[in-house]
Amino acid sequence: MRFTKLRLTGFKSFVDPTDLMIAEGLTGVVGPNGCGKSNLLEALRWVMGETRAKAMRGSGMEDVIFAGSGSRPARNFAEVSLHIDNSERLAPAGFNDSDTLEIVRRITRDVGSAYKTNGKDVRARDVQMLFADASTGAHSPSLVRQGQIAELINAKPKSRRRILEEAAGISGLYQRRHEAELK
Ligand code: ATP
Ligand code: MG
Repeated sequence: MRFTKLRLTGFKSFVDPTDLMIAEGLTGVVGPNGCGKSNLLEALRWVMGETRAKAMRGSGMEDVIFAGSGSRPARNFAEVSLHIDNSERLAPAGFNDSDTLEIVRRITRDVGSAYKTNGKDVRARDVQMLFADASTGAHSPSLVRQGQIAELINAKPKSRRRILEEAAGISGLYQRRHEAELK
């Protein structure tokens, strides 16, 4: 599964619809301080199902919605869409019936988040599981936040193990076992 496009609308500093095309190989994002580079990575993590406001550098989940600037009023919703090339059909069962996969997450003030895959309503959990097995996802070690290296070095053995398990792609299994035990 290869990410091909990220579209942000009303997400943090990206008030107008903005497309980031992701070509094969390495993609670099450069720009002055405060131009929104970290916001792009946060959008990627958010559309994959991030639920911790702190990981989005906010105090509440609605803080990702464009909050207004000198000349532009605040928005009522934020939306991020992620396009994935699935021509090799590597997506898990249930997501595997087309060459491209589009995941959309939208948060509306006082309503909360809703997710769609290829236009169909799905649950947050479905989106999180989709990525958990691909060892990518909101908590993936392949997304390294500023300051995260220091956190890893200072981590307690238990949380360091969680990071390694996520990297090994087995955290989806734990999630399923936990749910099975609750049933
Ligand atoms: P640096 O090079 O310093 O790491 P950066 O390119 O990573 O900078 P970001 O941290 O992505 O920059 O962007 C910060 C900008 O996003 C700030 O100007 C901040 O005001 C703006 N911003 C964050 N959240 C919102 C929001 N909800 N509404 C409007 N603007 C926002
Ligand atoms: Mg930054």
